[in-house]
Amino acid sequence: MRTECLPADREGITKAADILAEGGLVAFPTETVYGLGANALSVEAVRRIFEAKGRPADNPLIVHVTDKEAASACGEWNGLADLLADAFWPGPLTLIVKRKAVIPAEVSAGLETVALRSPSHPSARELLRVCGMPIAAPSANRSGRPSPTTARHVLDDLDGLIPLVLDGGSCDVGLESTVADVTGEVPLILRPGAVTLEMIAMVAGECRISDSVMRELKKDEAAPSPGMRHRHYAPRAQLTLVKGSPEKVCELIRQLAEKSEKTWVLAPEDRVKYYRGLNTHSLGGDAKETAHRLFHLLRQADEERVEHILSETLTSDGLGLAVMNRLARAANFHILDADGKASQND
Ligand code: AMP
Ligand code: MG
Repeated sequence: MRTECLPADREGITKAADILAEGGLVAFPTETVYGLGANALSVEAVRRIFEAKGRPADNPLIVHVTDKEAASACGEWNGLADLLADAFWPGPLTLIVKRKAVIPAEVSAGLETVALRSPSHPSARELLRVCGMPIAAPSANRSGRPSPTTARHVLDDLDGLIPLVLDGGSCDVGLESTVADVTGEVPLILRPGAVTLEMIAMVAGECRISDSVMRELKKDEAAPSPGMRHRHYAPRAQLTLVKGSPEKVCELIRQLAEKSEKTWVLAPEDRVKYYRGLNTHSLGGDAKETAHRLFHLLRQADEERVEHILSETLTSDGLGLAVMNRLARAANFHILDADGKASQND
């Protein structure tokens, strides 16, 4: 199959809507990462997503909708969903509610719930408006690879496997949406993102976070959010995170970097200067910048055939939690403590 890449303008969006109406797949930009969309009401269309991505069938998809009204046609809407949608939609927040029968079980990987999001990206919104149907769309990468934040990243993974990519430039946030289960009385974050725990707690009065967010699931443990069972966001290079006091972190990273030639060091902007002489890349000046460039950096490391990436850690508050969640998963929870020299998963 030839993959066309068109600007996300009126012509591109019309073509995309036609493909979706025929049950085909289209990659399109959102404010978080690029999505791989299909008609959420069609089992055949949704199956194509799993095939193109090589996605395990037990990993559910997020259904994209224009607004609350469209969302309540797909899932059992409730007061908490309403409150959070009013505060954060359109935007990078996915809400889990009970699934209605119009949404095929395949979309939710057999779960009785459905994940719903109303994106804010103008091209995504226009596509939803023109095609007039809910669009199931996971990230537009091959399963296990870092999520795509540019049309080029999508082509690197899916060229020849899908008919169309809409190019809307680089994604604003750069990390996938926050996923919050709102089937209970208190919102429960299953995946951290740009709508933070603190922001949700401000609106809902309380917000919990699943304890599986920052640790590896045990072999037979049930995953509250099935995507967490799978290795995610991973570059081909071996990523190691180093935490601890700044001087010790620097010392240990320098020691480890000397052992191999094809090594990259990742550090916050103001710490890059401590790694002179090494192949060092900046994670940016704050968590927002890190989120925006993280997946791009991981993909660039693969292109340059880097073998090891050694990264400093960031503070896990606000958006920092989402960044650390993706870094820890990309590292397969390989985290060294420079102070204690004890390690997880060694
Ligand atoms: P992606 O579309 O690649 O961002 O992945 C969507 C993620 O949302 C999945 O990997 C799940 O972790 C989560 N998700 C989607 N639907 C549900 C659901 N019904 N219940 C819990 N988590 C879900
Ligand atoms: Mg994904």
